[in-house]
Amino acid sequence: DAPDVEETKEEKMKKEREAREAEQRSEFEQIQVSRKLLPMFPYRDDLLKAVEEHQVIIIVGETGSGKTTQIPQYLYEAGYGKLGKIGCTQPRRVAAMSVAARVAQEMGVKLGAQVGYSIRFEDCTSDKTLVKYMTDGMLLREFLGEPDLASYSCMMVDEAHERTLHTDVLFGLVKDIARFRPDLKLLISSATLDAEKFSEYFDFAPIFRIPGRRYPVDIMYTKAPEADYLHAAVVTTLQIHVSQPEGDVLIFLTGQEEIEACEEMLKQRTRGMGSKIGELIIAPIYANLPSDMQAKIFEPTPPGARKVVIATNIAETSLTIDGIKYVIDPGFCKQNSYNPRSGMESLQVTPISKASALQRAGRAGRTSPGKCFRLYTAWAYQHELEANTVPEIQRTNLGNVVLLLKSLGINDLINFDFMDPPPTETMFRALEQLYALGALNDKGELTMMGRKMAEFPVDPMLAKMIIQSEKFGVSEEVCTIAAMVSVGGSVFYRPKDKAVHADNAHKAFHRGNVGDHMALLNVYNGWAETNFASQWCFENFVQIRSMKRARDIRDQLLGLVDRCEIELLSNPQDLDAIRKAITSGFFYHTASLQKNGSYRTVKNPQTVHVHPSSGLSEAMPRWLVYHELVLTTKEYMRVVSEINPEWLVEIAPHYYSKKEIMEQAQKKLPKMLGKAAGEA
Ligand code: ADP
Ligand code: MG
Repeated sequence: DAPDVEETKEEKMKKEREAREAEQRSEFEQIQVSRKLLPMFPYRDDLLKAVEEHQVIIIVGETGSGKTTQIPQYLYEAGYGKLGKIGCTQPRRVAAMSVAARVAQEMGVKLGAQVGYSIRFEDCTSDKTLVKYMTDGMLLREFLGEPDLASYSCMMVDEAHERTLHTDVLFGLVKDIARFRPDLKLLISSATLDAEKFSEYFDFAPIFRIPGRRYPVDIMYTKAPEADYLHAAVVTTLQIHVSQPEGDVLIFLTGQEEIEACEEMLKQRTRGMGSKIGELIIAPIYANLPSDMQAKIFEPTPPGARKVVIATNIAETSLTIDGIKYVIDPGFCKQNSYNPRSGMESLQVTPISKASALQRAGRAGRTSPGKCFRLYTAWAYQHELEANTVPEIQRTNLGNVVLLLKSLGINDLINFDFMDPPPTETMFRALEQLYALGALNDKGELTMMGRKMAEFPVDPMLAKMIIQSEKFGVSEEVCTIAAMVSVGGSVFYRPKDKAVHADNAHKAFHRGNVGDHMALLNVYNGWAETNFASQWCFENFVQIRSMKRARDIRDQLLGLVDRCEIELLSNPQDLDAIRKAITSGFFYHTASLQKNGSYRTVKNPQTVHVHPSSGLSEAMPRWLVYHELVLTTKEYMRVVSEINPEWLVEIAPHYYSKKEIMEQAQKKLPKMLGKAAGEA
């Protein structure tokens, strides 16, 4: 009868719950066992002793030895959490998130509670958080609110060998505060053996070496250069799969697009191979991959199957994936470079350094002997690869960092203690731009405007645009546009087999055709009107993932706008006001049409082109404001809008003279080119 049934049901549920708990318990216990097997573990007590005795130590150990996941836990277990937070910086967003998740699991706590992470536009920490992973850029921002990092007892600057711009700036700042905060423990950790340079920089801090456990890796080169490394990587993977013993494969590619193409090719090829060969599990990893899909790279491979991880540089040292036995290294990565004279930034596929090649090969020999297939010749390795990668600080725009340092009261940037100083020209260019934007006065001191701009974790020009938008009554629209240009990558989706449909859908966003900024605004507002429906994105060939990110960024920007007491005003119909607001941040980025049909930038004149993805690539308006210059196959302006040249004189009279603009505007252009000046 009824009560009996109830009871058994309850009993069943109880049993199930107990089974689940037992499973979790055993998983937790297993993790504790595996923690003790890491190369780091035997040195736990020695390390803690070294930390106790010295304020600054340099830690060097092979990738996978347990530096990132274990050291902050050791410090926590030793009681440093009682004195303040234990921070650990990562150059990459994905690594900060993934490592924090792992450590939360190892400590048996919920992510965001005792263990959390903080990355730009996403804060997963709480009052309880004592072990905090964050990007190096986020820690830089924390200095603004807490210049002595008072809430931290320990700070680990991890992946120091990567020498990202933000890590390099952090070196200078943490070195400085260590002097007047003797209680702060500083750990600088690196995967490469070249630790002397770090030690020397930090006043000869002691080096703590964790002996690695590394198995031999056979290195194979190609006999002749590969014309198409993507194709070669696919072929090599399949050869490994049919001819080599068990073990997972790791392929290094340069970005999301290549990774997706490779994934697709591998799927197609294996489909044709029938059921005789083992299963090939394909696991991509790159910065914009949603976190639930990132977890796939860490799942153990079932017997008989083989996992292929297709990764960017992130798998070089930031993330350790167990079970990799074969590495395929095409020898390239994406690297940015910057020309201070033209202001041109480019993100280009570049040959890696010998140091990188060595790290990549090392990933094959972590748990057993392995093989590394270099898709280039031994000669190219010897003669064409540089020994080390140039630090990012020497090949990037410094606008942001200079504004931040100025906000921290560091005025003499030329004498700032950089490990490797940036080119003087890049520094001057950044100072000049900040002056033009009104962030610095003519003595190079931070202004009220500059202070406000530094509140926004975006490029100084975007910050200025947001702050000025209030004056034009369109702060809400401008925040949306700022969020849309900050998502990284295109929000438009254009599958090859539906290119015509996609193009038509995208054209609809360019109604009025005054520029890409407005189109981006239309996309966001269109999506918002449907209450953020996925179906809408699907129908309009818009990337849902990018849109969700845009929404998060927009929320953050609106929060900052509120904090800076900028009034939130909306006037979506006033296209002029919106473009004037954009121009007030981006007057530095303008171009005018020339006789030959190309564009010339107004300041620092050079020939540039409208990017083919722009809605204005055929309209050829006479005057343009652009979001960024990128060098790919040509010098392209990305995300452009038509402007009236008179606005330049109106908005930035200190930067443009009426005479200069009028002279340009009055030049005759062949009839078929452009519209008359002022018709914008
Ligand atoms: P290091 O920083 O020295 O390169 P890590 O602390 O990142 O080393 O990694 C140590 C070990 O922790 C790895 O070998 C791997 O076994 C494990 N590990 C790290 N992250 C994860 C994860 N997300 N999932 C499963 N295991 C992980
Ligand atoms: Mg690490």
